[in-house]
Amino acid sequence: MRLSFARPVVGRLAPSPTGAQHLGNARTYLIAWLAARAAGGRVILRIEDIDSPRVKAWAVQQAIDDLRWLGLDWDEGPDIGGPNGPYVQTERQEYYRRFFRELSDRNLVYPCTCSRSDIAAASAPHADQEGPVYPGTCRHRSSRDQENLAAGSFSWRFRLTTESDSYFDHGAGQQSRSPAADLGDFVICKADGTPSYQMAVVLDDAAMGVTQVVRGNDLIPSTFRQRALIRAWGLPIPEYLHLPLVIGPDGRRLAKRHGDTRLSILRENSVPPERLIGFLAWSAGLREFPGPATAQSLLDSFEPTKLHSRPFVLHPAHWDWLLAPSGKVAPGWFETPTNGGTTP
Ligand code: GLU
Repeated sequence: MRLSFARPVVGRLAPSPTGAQHLGNARTYLIAWLAARAAGGRVILRIEDIDSPRVKAWAVQQAIDDLRWLGLDWDEGPDIGGPNGPYVQTERQEYYRRFFRELSDRNLVYPCTCSRSDIAAASAPHADQEGPVYPGTCRHRSSRDQENLAAGSFSWRFRLTTESDSYFDHGAGQQSRSPAADLGDFVICKADGTPSYQMAVVLDDAAMGVTQVVRGNDLIPSTFRQRALIRAWGLPIPEYLHLPLVIGPDGRRLAKRHGDTRLSILRENSVPPERLIGFLAWSAGLREFPGPATAQSLLDSFEPTKLHSRPFVLHPAHWDWLLAPSGKVAPGWFETPTNGGTTP
């Protein structure tokens, strides 16, 4: 099935400043930017610095510098302002609290005193990496029961209905889940009162008029949680394009154990951004060869249906080639991957 995005399109780049941005992040940003701009859309830069004790102060500016280095631009963001700011989640807490109160007044959330180990002990193991489905231990509570609980002793969970949900994903195709059975009631506010990623992202996308969400397909389960929240608040539902991940030769999601793929290393080594952009576009299925390209030059031929549906396996030799593309690469490394993304 081929569907184009409903216009006008508003897309977003949503880095989490929990550390340096790496090659996998760059691939997502490039495709998010292309999907919005190729549809004549606007782009918003939003810093997702909530929901993580791992946030690093230096990482915000570095993410902005990385994105600029890649040749991506945006119409609204923390560095340039705009009508829908602030564009940094920790500065939007009052707004989240207001929407949270509405759910609480409607008894759509309940206080949960379960610890992580309580949940694991009471749950069947779950097939994906999402952790166990919450078994509903505290579901009998109403939102008012918080009055009888010590502050800081509970988090808040969203009460899912038993309805199933499905949507068309521009990257991953038709998706269906029964969120209550497959995922379970989820935390939307932590014990210290901080809103969760799920709540912040939904409210920000709505406030900023985002119509197009492009991100890694490890967030598809979260999409179902977010759609349930969006419906509860009666907010507009964006369209989604979930991308296959970049993985290491061991088949696991690209991480430090696979080597250091920080974008800042490429910058420090004076690698031209066009080399990375061309490589990423090739890795995603947008080009037949990995030669240099600018993000701008990919706009005319961008088409979501060209995107590979399988993950891309990054080999150490790819990274070496990005640093110094001189004769080190074995023949065939840059053939279009056909066998699950692995090079021959
Ligand atoms: N901030 C998230 C990340 O960097 C992205 C979340 C989203 O796109 O919804 O992984």
